[in-house]
Amino acid sequence: MTVTTLSRTGRGGPAELIAAGHRSYSFEFFPPKTDKGEQVLWQALRRVEAANPSFVSVTYGAGGSSRERTAALTQRIAEHTTLRPVAHLTAVGHSVAELRQIIGRYADAGIRDVLALRGDPPGDPQGPWNRHPEGLAHAVELVQLVRELGDFSIGVAAFPERHPRSPDWDSDIRHFAAKCRAGADYAITQMFFHADDYLRLRDRLAAAGCHIPVIPGIMPATRYDQISRFAELSNATFPPELALRLRTARYDPRESYRIGVDHATELAQRLLDEAAPGLHYITLNHSSAALDIHRGLRLPNPPTPQEPSR
Ligand code: FAD
Repeated sequence: MTVTTLSRTGRGGPAELIAAGHRSYSFEFFPPKTDKGEQVLWQALRRVEAANPSFVSVTYGAGGSSRERTAALTQRIAEHTTLRPVAHLTAVGHSVAELRQIIGRYADAGIRDVLALRGDPPGDPQGPWNRHPEGLAHAVELVQLVRELGDFSIGVAAFPERHPRSPDWDSDIRHFAAKCRAGADYAITQMFFHADDYLRLRDRLAAAGCHIPVIPGIMPATRYDQISRFAELSNATFPPELALRLRTARYDPRESYRIGVDHATELAQRLLDEAAPGLHYITLNHSSAALDIHRGLRLPNPPTPQEPSR
């Protein structure tokens, strides 16, 4: 795989890479809870490292110990690999003082990349959203806080099928545009399975004057039993024909894997052909499918350099 790796120091980040006319290819991991999970993760990280991606990102959990694991893993990646780690950070359940402390810890460890998110209510992600009494209400405020605290490269979340709690597209796009104005450098999307949803989102953002790069999130669906979990995680509309093919092949892991990888490769290829600024692979800590998709792509010419705009 030939991709341009970001420098490990300085603000830099995917937006800078894309503005220079390259694409950003990245891989998402979560902090595991067990020793076995840790082994699987590090095998995956090493395989991804050999592929020289633009960055890897580490998700942020809902509770105390899993949050500590995110910070620890992000630091270990920075210290023990050549990878550039992006730390997801959510506002939920934190006071502003705690958020300042976490961001300060990243800065001290030389980590300059934060994906600034609001997070979902712990326990029941569909439950009522309540801000911490001394915390932040929306991701836009976290973007402002991170921007205030240092020279970070800041990513935010985007939703090709609209955030599930947004009452309409107008408010969804308006609130997203506020994150751009607050200093977001780029966005990564929620997983989705129809290229047109991404393309429509991009048009809507452009019409709202928001031109930061929006990197599509790609989730390989290689097992029938993953589908309901995906819906729960993302609210993404799963293509019925893909669900049927995975269901038919549910007792044949190889065929199921091939179906999922082929479908995700087609989606990723269409997005690149439509000038998407890169791809962000959600790995669930197993790198094989993401790497197989990436190897299967016909990588087109780099996109036209863009002016970073707010
Ligand atoms: P916001 O931008 O705050 O938006 C949330 C909702 O509030 C939207 O409906 C928006 O339109 C609305 N809104 C925004 N501002 C205002 C305002 N001023 N007034 C009224 N309404 C407003 N979750 C985790 O817990 N850990 C992770 O590591 C994680 N990683 C993610 C990575 C990606 C790429 C994505 C797409 C999501 C991730 N999430 C993660 C999930 C995310 O935290 C949830 O989807 C959350 O519900 C929304 O976060 P946000 O940053 O988009 O919030």
